[in-house]
Amino acid sequence: MISLIFSKSFTQQEPLPQEAIDNAVTVLQGGRLHRYNVIPGETSQAALLEQEFADYQGTRYCLACTSGGYALHIALRCLGLEPGEPVLTNAFTLAPVPGAIHNAGGRPVLVETRADLKIDLDDLKNKAGRTSARFLMLSHMRGHIADMDAVVDLCSEYDINLVEDCAHTMGASWKNVKSGNFGKIACFSSQTYKHLNSGEGGFLTTNDPQIMARAIIHSGSYMLFENHIARPAREIFESVKLSTPNYSGRMDNLRASILRPQLKDLDTNCERWNQRYQVLANKLDNIKCISLPERSRDEHYVGSSIQFSINLDSPDKIPEFIDTCLKRGVEIKWFGASEPKGFTSRFDSWRYFENDYELPNTMQILSNLCDMRVPLTFSKADCALIGDIIEQVIGEVS
Ligand SMILES: *Cc1c(COP(=O)(O)O)cnc(C)c1O
Repeated sequence: MISLIFSKSFTQQEPLPQEAIDNAVTVLQGGRLHRYNVIPGETSQAALLEQEFADYQGTRYCLACTSGGYALHIALRCLGLEPGEPVLTNAFTLAPVPGAIHNAGGRPVLVETRADLKIDLDDLKNKAGRTSARFLMLSHMRGHIADMDAVVDLCSEYDINLVEDCAHTMGASWKNVKSGNFGKIACFSSQTYKHLNSGEGGFLTTNDPQIMARAIIHSGSYMLFENHIARPAREIFESVKLSTPNYSGRMDNLRASILRPQLKDLDTNCERWNQRYQVLANKLDNIKCISLPERSRDEHYVGSSIQFSINLDSPDKIPEFIDTCLKRGVEIKWFGASEPKGFTSRFDSWRYFENDYELPNTMQILSNLCDMRVPLTFSKADCALIGDIIEQVIGEVS
């Protein structure tokens, strides 16, 4: 039997829309790249983007900043995290999440993962009680959205401030409420591999005027906060402006100018991701040894990546499966590797904070969890071919 081969790159994004390129050229020609470098009567690209993203999310306020990780960091600062305080978060998340907690002076407390890749609410409750943590940084990791009614109830029962990490759920929703509208603050990323692409970039959204005033000052507004439009009234800044440090992390006009046209295409692109995801999911679901995490009917996810667990007769065969797929052009990440590789880091490689908890369930789940990007440069036929290659390789190694 001939081996099927795939030849496209798993990290190739689509070109930016022409309107984004034209906007960027206009900003470059004007030379006013700094968000506060405006001429009289002008509203900066960054300020316009914030208003448009707030409108998209249906929130009152939005700050655009340098990265998703930066937004997560200042989110905790805005909520008054004290040095050394515990912050509950998913054990199954990406390195910038515990990194943001550490950067804000907090101590990550990792919570177990369920087989459907969502946060384990029993363990969350347990650790909320044990640590009296005032914060939960909930990572909707790889777009898997937990039962948000239960999360919100638990947070109110234990007086926990909820920060949502929506790096993988921009455009997604739970029971028709947009992901990011369940907690005090939501953070998003516009880094190249997320749902909008400005290379680097992030957003922080909230409905709380005090929080947004602090976030704007933290981001380095040099008291030019009146240039923002998705912001609270000027008076709100009076009470916070001298007690809030500048942690410079502003969005610039060049990136804002290329994000604004992309935002208009976001929902269409989410649909396009889901069409590709569905082709892959249908294929993979029919392969014995492979199982896909369960999805709730209430979850309207964005399939910009796909996860599956693989159960070969011996776990030693997983590296062989991964290697063979790679030789055929199919790039799969595996969370079970002993050393962190590329973007796929695992909680036991975060050694800079004390983690007193055993996480046997997460360890078990990650040991056979595979992860694959689904870039929009893949056609549905490409996705079908990838599914066939995976099936073929499984047949060979098992
Ligand atoms: C990418 C990512 C972030 C942080 O985004 P950056 O913009 O790269 O800082 C946070 N959480 C998760 C789960 C991510 O994948």
